[in-house]
Amino acid sequence: MDIYSRHIKRLTQELAGLPGVGAKSAQRLAFYIVNMPEAKAFSLAEAIKEAKENTRLCKECFCLTDQETCPVCADSKRDHSTIMVVEETRDMAAYEKTGKYEGVYHVLHGAISPMTGVGPEDIKLKELMERLSQNDIKEVIIATNSSLEGETTAMYISRLLKPVGIVTTRIASGVPVGGDLEYIDEVTLLRALEGRTRIGE
Ligand code: ZN
Repeated sequence: MDIYSRHIKRLTQELAGLPGVGAKSAQRLAFYIVNMPEAKAFSLAEAIKEAKENTRLCKECFCLTDQETCPVCADSKRDHSTIMVVEETRDMAAYEKTGKYEGVYHVLHGAISPMTGVGPEDIKLKELMERLSQNDIKEVIIATNSSLEGETTAMYISRLLKPVGIVTTRIASGVPVGGDLEYIDEVTLLRALEGRTRIGE
């Protein structure tokens, strides 16, 4: 006999759809949530709803933000002629935590992956090219991950940028292979940034 209510089942299914949550943990979390004090559980639900309703993409760099223009893009003290290209908003957050990078960003929302069918048109590359054509850009720093997908994307961008004549650099590979930028400590991030080299020449 199936003893779980359809509500718990639904919650379990929703949780199991999250990255890194397997069927077992989804069930454990579902039970944890239904056993929580009502106020806490509702507050969690409300936080999800609020975050979802109030999050949008920055119109300049496409990072996740709650404003039309994110705080970095809106800051006139930042160097708007240097753009660091990252895969995800959390990579940008990692660099922001160092407090040492003065340029702005461009968030791709992914990386090219022929294996999983993610092509150049599936990430914010067209938007990057548009941005580069409309603004006076000195340097594009490619800070995609050092995974196969990240490297493929870096190569692709450098090829796109070559005819445009903008200095294109790649962060140094002090970053462990396959390592997500967000998990790397600040010193390593800064070293990778400072040790960047020109590519696509
Ligand atoms: Zn922005």
